[in-house]
Amino acid sequence: MTYRSIVLVKQVPDTRHVTGEVMTADGTMNRSALPAIFNPEDLHALEMALQVKEQYGGTVTVLTMGPLQATETLRQALYRGADQVILVSDRKFAGADTQATSYTLKCAIDRLGAFDLVFCGRQAIDGDTAQVGPQVAEKLGVPQITYAESILSLADGEIVVQRAFERGTEIVQCTLPCLLTVTASANQPRPPSVRQRIACKEAAAPGEYPALLQKYPAYASAEALDADLARRGLKIPVWGAADLTVDESLLGLGGSPTQVHKINFVVLETTESKEIPPTPQGIHGLIEELVREYVIG
Ligand SMILES: Cc1cc2nc3c(=O)[nH]c(=O)nc-3n(C[C@H](O)[C@H](O)[C@H](O)COP(=O)(O)OP(=O)(O)OC[C@H]3O[C@@H](n4cnc5c(N)ncnc54)[C@H](O)[C@@H]3O)c2cc1C
Repeated sequence: MTYRSIVLVKQVPDTRHVTGEVMTADGTMNRSALPAIFNPEDLHALEMALQVKEQYGGTVTVLTMGPLQATETLRQALYRGADQVILVSDRKFAGADTQATSYTLKCAIDRLGAFDLVFCGRQAIDGDTAQVGPQVAEKLGVPQITYAESILSLADGEIVVQRAFERGTEIVQCTLPCLLTVTASANQPRPPSVRQRIACKEAAAPGEYPALLQKYPAYASAEALDADLARRGLKIPVWGAADLTVDESLLGLGGSPTQVHKINFVVLETTESKEIPPTPQGIHGLIEELVREYVIG
């Protein structure tokens, strides 16, 4: 049995560089003001999907919802071995909260047709809600396994997964199709393959053609470039609202019940300090104190 996997990946601003200046008046983020990276846990989700494909066969399709620049994340997925990538992008999706984001992603998955597994990262490092994966599962009407650390078995329409927590693990079983949110402890994501990078470096969405035409003047026109990329499987499809079966009132800012009013940076300041002697008694005393203060249990 082979498996059709879909991986949801997000291009995120490098949150080490978020300051008050990159937040706009309506509480949304000016992404173009920040360096963009592949959301770290999504690399683990992609790795898990690629391992399923290697072990059992099948396909890995990667979706991202975002602006045109998010194609870089899709190219990174191609360099690692994804079979197909799709950019879900439209001005109508702008300002989406997690509800509107998960609704849009669900509609894009509907367009892909039948699937066996959807993989998400556990959490994005910018929004940090960890809501999108569970919401997509709910909207698709499939079971979800969050905090997935490893797939223990996959057979006969069922999956057995080890979930990871701070203080232990749990083994759960569910039927396919299902959605997994994958933790950073799951695996070691592979680096981009040099061979794939050479093969896919020209992969582009139509919005990127003007820049590509400058880089490769041998193409006589955008039409010639489009035809060549399509022939070589390097044209990145862009799906907007008109390409999906959607209720437009559920998209973007209008479809978002939450509003970001303000972001505060919390700096924890030391008010007192205590020196612990590096002896068994000192460490024992510290643990007792932390238990007494309910810091650890
Ligand atoms: C009122 C409001 C307005 C907002 N406006 C904007 C805005 O204008 N521009 C903007 O960029 N953000 C905006 N956001 C943030 C946006 O809602 C989140 O970036 C998005 O919903 C994902 O949530 P998260 O980052 O918490 O992801 P999480 O729920 O933490 O992500 C979990 C996993 O879901 C998947 N995932 C998440 N997002 C995507 C995606 N876009 N594509 C594919 N897979 C994904 C990934 O696998 C990820 O690891 C807004 C949020 C609110 C509340």
